[in-house]
Amino acid sequence: MESSEVDQMALISVLAEGYVVTLAGGGFRASPSTVLMEDSGRRVLADPGADGRSLSSALFKRGLSPSEIDLVFITHAHLDHLLNLRLFPDAEVCDGSFFYRGDEEIPYGRFLPDTEIEVLSTPGHTPEHSSLLVPSEGETWLVAGDLFWWRDGAVPRTDISGLLALEDELATDPEALRMSRIEALRRADVVVPGHGRPFRFEDRPLMVTF
Ligand SMILES: [Zn+2]
Repeated sequence: MESSEVDQMALISVLAEGYVVTLAGGGFRASPSTVLMEDSGRRVLADPGADGRSLSSALFKRGLSPSEIDLVFITHAHLDHLLNLRLFPDAEVCDGSFFYRGDEEIPYGRFLPDTEIEVLSTPGHTPEHSSLLVPSEGETWLVAGDLFWWRDGAVPRTDISGLLALEDELATDPEALRMSRIEALRRADVVVPGHGRPFRFEDRPLMVTF
């Protein structure tokens, strides 16, 4: 679909599916889901990840060069999510709190500037973790970062109870993570996890009590 066919709505696509593979000798191979959004003429990339070859190939297949990415959003400061920032020296960079221009850190509001992409603070995996809510074709996509992630080979439950119970061995604050998950799932139709296959979410957490 061409951008001109839609009005006031983001186009969204998963450029690379996130993975975590445990290596036999110890350590991991890991890179997160990288998501491309196009909204109001701006191209936004979430979590460029660590797998430079796959990302470059995915952009090339869409006829895009790295210089055509306007803004790179980082969900949280784990290096596997952001090593490929070096591929986008011309893009603006932001996390859930600030735009980074050189050594300047500039706060911004609830939406990525000049877009309908909403930034949702989702602490728990790390204190500064944020996710994106992206309206697209009548649905809301949650670019979740490591609000949800699992290792390759795991088959996670994608109902509300299963998602709230999903283990995160790296979580800095498990209770904050649970609350962040509930808040995000209230809004999401499609969930793109940090590592793992995107899934449709249809089990709204209306019955969950705080
Ligand atoms: Zn992480």
